[in-house]
Amino acid sequence: MKFCQNCGTRLKLKKIKTDDTVTISLQCERCGFTAPVDEPITKPEAAPSEEQIKVVSEEVDIKTMPTIDEKCPKCGHKEAFWWLLQTRSGDEATTQFYRCTKCNHTWREYA
Ligand SMILES: [Zn+2]
Ligand SMILES: [Zn+2]
Repeated sequence: MKFCQNCGTRLKLKKIKTDDTVTISLQCERCGFTAPVDEPITKPEAAPSEEQIKVVSEEVDIKTMPTIDEKCPKCGHKEAFWWLLQTRSGDEATTQFYRCTKCNHTWREYA
């Protein structure tokens, strides 16, 4: 979990689509500050961000999840596990999560 350097608001993951690539970055919803997501590029086996790992390990058993034809934004592999999750606040919409079957990169889909 990361916080904004400017105002201290918790940063949220944002998915930015350009022509043929998808970039995930952290964004402050209050002042618009953005920061790159810390993802070690030289160590694909390293864990994704703390929050994502926590969500996965506490609430779903990834091995039982169905797979979908979805492109991994990290390695480009075209198959991912997917599941739906209600966020903690309860009044937000259900979020769809994906996890790459190849490199275990985990990301979420914003409706
Ligand atoms: Zn901010
Ligand atoms: Zn991948």
